[in-house]
Amino acid sequence: MIDPIWNVIQQEKVRQQQTLQLIPSENYASKEVLAACGSILSNKYAEGYPGKRYYQGNIHIDEIEQLAIERAKKLFGAEHANVQPLSGAPANLAVFFALLQPGDKIMAMPLDHGGHLTHGSPANFSGKTYTIIPYRVDPETEQLDYQMIRTLALQEKPKLILSGFTAYPRKINFKIMHEIAEDVGAYSMADISHIAGLIVGGVHPSPFPFTDVVTTTTHKTLRGPRSAIIVSKQEDRLHGIYHKNSKKNLAQRIDSAVFPGLQGGPHQHTIAAKAIAFEEALRPEFKVYAQQVVNNAQVLAATLMEEGIKLVSNGTDTHLLLIDLLKTSFINKPGLGRIAAVALENAGIVCNANTIPFDPSTPFTPSGLRLGTPALTTRGMKEAEMKKIGVWISSILHDLGNEQLQKTICEQVKSLCEQFPIYDDLYL
Ligand SMILES: *Cc1c(COP(=O)(O)O)cnc(C)c1O
Repeated sequence: MIDPIWNVIQQEKVRQQQTLQLIPSENYASKEVLAACGSILSNKYAEGYPGKRYYQGNIHIDEIEQLAIERAKKLFGAEHANVQPLSGAPANLAVFFALLQPGDKIMAMPLDHGGHLTHGSPANFSGKTYTIIPYRVDPETEQLDYQMIRTLALQEKPKLILSGFTAYPRKINFKIMHEIAEDVGAYSMADISHIAGLIVGGVHPSPFPFTDVVTTTTHKTLRGPRSAIIVSKQEDRLHGIYHKNSKKNLAQRIDSAVFPGLQGGPHQHTIAAKAIAFEEALRPEFKVYAQQVVNNAQVLAATLMEEGIKLVSNGTDTHLLLIDLLKTSFINKPGLGRIAAVALENAGIVCNANTIPFDPSTPFTPSGLRLGTPALTTRGMKEAEMKKIGVWISSILHDLGNEQLQKTICEQVKSLCEQFPIYDDLYL
C-alpha cells in the first residue's frame, strides 16, 4: 500500500500551486535544491568539519561542504562561513554561545516591534539566559532611531548589539549599528534572515565588511533549502575580554559553538542544497529577481495605501509590508489580525497575522498583517499582478465577514495562479 503521506504531499503541492503565498519568509526553492534535500547524502554521518571528521567515508561529503563554505564566503564577501546550522534559531543561539556568558547583556529589538523570538523573547532560551536590553522603533516614524539606539547603548554597555528583524519593512543601516557597537565595546551581530537575498541581489546594503557576525536563514529571500549559515570575520576585535581562557579566534569559537557545542551530525543533504542555492544566487539573474521583489512590494504597498489601508512606516524599502489594521480608518479596532488573515486565506491569499509596533493587543490576536513578495516574484508575477492582488486584499478587508466575496476571489486567485506555475511541471 502507498503510504497516505504521499497523498497529503500531493495535496500540499496543489495548495502551493493554487494559492498566493504572501508570507514574506517563504519562497519556492529550485528543483535542484529540492533534489539535493531529498538525496542519499541524508544517509551519512559527518560530525566535525571538512578534513577533521569523527567518522570515515567522508571524502565526497568534505568536497561538498568545502564548496558550500567557499560559495557562502563569496556570496557575502565574508572571511569565514559555517554552513552547518540546522536553521535560523539554532544559528543565533550558536553565536550567543560562542561570544557571551550567561547573564551578559544583548541589545536587541523585541518581537512585537519586529525582532525574532531568538532575539531575547522571555519565552526563548535567549531571553531566559541573557540580559536583554530592548530597543524599539520610533513611535512617530515607526523606523529605527539610531540616535536613540546609541544613547541606550552608551548607558547600558551591552556585550552584543543585534540588528536584523522579521517584520521591519525599511532598510537597516548596518554600518551605524556597527559603529555604535564599536563605541561601546560590544560585538556587532546582524541577523539578515529575511533580507539575505536582497543583500546578495544588491538592493539592500550589506552588513559586510564591518559587522562581526552575520547569521541568515537560507530559505527566505535567498531561496535555498530550509536551513541557515553563520558568516563572520576571522578575528575577534574584543579578543580576550570575554573569553579569557580561550585561545581561539572568533571564527574558531563559532565553529566550536555549532559543533560540538550545540549540534551533532550536520545535515549534509541540506548543505549540498545550500551550496546549489548559493551558486544560483551568484548568477546575474538573481539580481534581477531581487530588484523585482522590491518593485513588487512597492507596487503592492502603493495599491494598498491608495485603497485607504495604513502601512507601518507608510511603505516599504524591502520585500515586506506590514498592514496596521488598528490605524486603517475603515477598521480602526485592535486585535483583528487573525480574523483578517483567515478571511484572506479563504480567498486563497496566504499571509500571516503579526503584531504592529506598540500593539495594544496580544501576539496571538495581533493588530497587523504581514505580507511579502519573494514567493510571488519567483513565480514570475510582476507589477500588474500586484495591483490586482492589492485590490483583492482591500475588498476582503473592507468586508471581513463576507464569505461569498471570499469564495469569488478564491476562484479568481486560482485562475491567476494557473498562469504562473510554481514549477514547470508538477514536480515530485
Ligand atoms: C526566520 C528568522 C529566524 C529563524 O529561522 P528558523 O529557520 O525559523 O529557525 C531567525 N531570525 C530572523 C530575523 C528570522 O527572520
